[in-house]
Amino acid sequence: MKTPVPDYLLEIRDACSVGDDGELADYIPELASVDPNRFAVAICTMDGVVYTAGDAGARFTIQSMSKPFIYALALRDRGIKAVLEKVGVEPSGDAFNEISLEPETGRPENPMINIGAITTHTLVGDPDADEIERDRVVAEGLSAFAGRDLEVDITVFDSELRTAFRNRAMANLLRAGGIIEGDPDEAVRGYTRQCAYNVTVRDLAVMAVTLANGGINPVTRERVVSAEVARQVLAVMTTCGMYDAAGDWMSTVGIPAKSGVSGGILGALPGQVGLGVFSPRLDGHGHSVEGVRTFERLSRDLELHLMNTTFTDVEAVRSVRHDERTGRQVYRLQGPMTFASAELVLRRLAEIPAGSGEVTLDLSRVSSVNTSARRILVEGMSRLSADGHVVGLADPSGRL
Ligand code: GLN
Repeated sequence: MKTPVPDYLLEIRDACSVGDDGELADYIPELASVDPNRFAVAICTMDGVVYTAGDAGARFTIQSMSKPFIYALALRDRGIKAVLEKVGVEPSGDAFNEISLEPETGRPENPMINIGAITTHTLVGDPDADEIERDRVVAEGLSAFAGRDLEVDITVFDSELRTAFRNRAMANLLRAGGIIEGDPDEAVRGYTRQCAYNVTVRDLAVMAVTLANGGINPVTRERVVSAEVARQVLAVMTTCGMYDAAGDWMSTVGIPAKSGVSGGILGALPGQVGLGVFSPRLDGHGHSVEGVRTFERLSRDLELHLMNTTFTDVEAVRSVRHDERTGRQVYRLQGPMTFASAELVLRRLAEIPAGSGEVTLDLSRVSSVNTSARRILVEGMSRLSADGHVVGLADPSGRL
């Protein structure tokens, strides 16, 4: 049997074509001259399998889709608190190139619009790193997310830099307000270079799934950032990734995402999947028209909306075996242990009257235990023991 996923992606490609709706970005010749009819889509699973359809070999610059990853590197290198002092996490509802700063703090509102992204760029690496060193950390970091060595498109970089008047104005404003330190031109150069890395839809899907996978790239198995950093980035992508269309995007598509003017959109659904789409015609917000359509379709067909409720907790206790002769009771648990499922387990354990019998928790079928569930289960075991029970644990994979 052949898996139906590639056939499905081909179908999507045809269904989401919008003819000649939308406009190519035209502020530099390199973006204005791409073939407007190119289309590619990729899905990367949590175990690192990538499916693609369309012009999967098409290379385009990462542009604003670099922003979440550079934010991740800044969080990794300086810590969440230090980064928050310089860039907020509030959706601005503004276009990507809006010159907006919070009135009270002078901080950019979030790291997904240019003014915030220029700031986070300066926070990558050591505080005393020079431009070359920072660029090296950026190259290494983006490449670790993609699982291969990414390279800058020098022609795009040169073109962008020659026309980066607005970004330069922002960097100067940030410098004047004391939000960035060092040379504002250096910050713009670095930011512009970060936007000019060449990628494919496969790269986008792998980069996205690394965030969806708690910071571990499932293809290379490298931990790129901590789970805490990955969560922070996904949260900000959710509220700010699609600029002034973020609310509409979250309600219809519901996948934390980021778009770029080159026509790419990447999406990361925590614990499930990484997605990348490329099609260069843009709508008024600067998002790929076919890219948006494709995400809408994938979300609907595959039920990928973040706010879909999955009921995994109902069967947390798979069975209870009670040996009348020995008085031994075995509670076999299954599935992922979260607050919700562990609470359910404890409610079952609370029904056991105080006494001297043996109670064993069998975790051999439990797939994961998060910190909250671990605390709850351990507390349950110590309460059973305080009630006079002998408490046993079968945990062959060491989940607890
Ligand atoms: N390089 C572009 C810029 O800074 C990226 C913008 C984008 O992709 N939205 O203007």
